[in-house]
Amino acid sequence: MEQLTRLVTGTKAFESLWKQFSADRFAHAYLITGNDPEYLKEFLLYAGAMALCPKGGCFSCVVCNKVFAGEHVDVHVYPKTKDKILLADISEILDDCYVKPFEGDRKIYVLNNCDTLSPLLQNKLLKTLEEPPENTIFFLGATNESTILATVKSRCQQVRLDDTSFEEVMKYLTSSGISEADAEIAACFADGRPLTAEKYATDRSFYKIFDEVTETVKSLSSSKDALKASAKLSSYGAGTQTVLRMLLLLYRQTLAAYADEEMLLLKHKKNDILFIKGMYSPEALYRVVDLLTQAKIRLDGNCNLSAVIDGLVLSILEVKYSCRR
Ligand SMILES: [Zn+2]
Repeated sequence: MEQLTRLVTGTKAFESLWKQFSADRFAHAYLITGNDPEYLKEFLLYAGAMALCPKGGCFSCVVCNKVFAGEHVDVHVYPKTKDKILLADISEILDDCYVKPFEGDRKIYVLNNCDTLSPLLQNKLLKTLEEPPENTIFFLGATNESTILATVKSRCQQVRLDDTSFEEVMKYLTSSGISEADAEIAACFADGRPLTAEKYATDRSFYKIFDEVTETVKSLSSSKDALKASAKLSSYGAGTQTVLRMLLLLYRQTLAAYADEEMLLLKHKKNDILFIKGMYSPEALYRVVDLLTQAKIRLDGNCNLSAVIDGLVLSILEVKYSCRR
């Protein structure tokens, strides 16, 4: 919590809201966008807490704690259980938002995943955003801004939650007690999304798979290894996209090792990466990265999993040999 508060309060997005709220200026609706859905959810709660906190955003008083615990009667967070806000949720919001707040002088609606709202539901919500009830603040969160209707955007003050650098994600993870070696992999893998990185970092099976994938790459030296590698990489079922992203990370880091070993992000995996570097020429690595990108697309397009992986492994071997160092 302490680390998260430090991360949130250090952003420009937070500063801009804090300046407004402390000057007693509140818009009726904010559209807050960012690249990490988990981080965005937390950020919206901080914004809600700040709008209600008698101390202007201490994040430790009774009011703030109630907001974070989901126990504040004037704070309504959607979706309630599923990933998507439903028609029933929107109807409930429209009925309920005109009722006066119970505890304080303001009511807060936190609407996560607004990018999954259909145009129909956005239009329903729009009516309320056009004629907002007094003392009600809507915080809309979206990772994909392009799905939000222009009419909805025009009724909201737009705030962009700052991207987080690799170094900031590392600092956040290690100060939360995660080892540097684990933090590196999670931070790389989450690509600047701090709370997504934290989710990986606290999941041991994530690291187990990463190690298995690394060993599979290291053992893939000739066509006699192809069958075993295919079987292993296909064995993760729904996790295959994750496996492909891990492969991409490993091969990209190996390419980076050709440029400058000191620039490696996966410093604790340096020995593995140098081992893989010994197996591939830079040209082969470029082509493997291409092959992986194509395989990801084919898998997204619902192509047969084993067919995609079998083809991928054979193509990697082919590239490895045709672009020998
Ligand atoms: Zn407070």
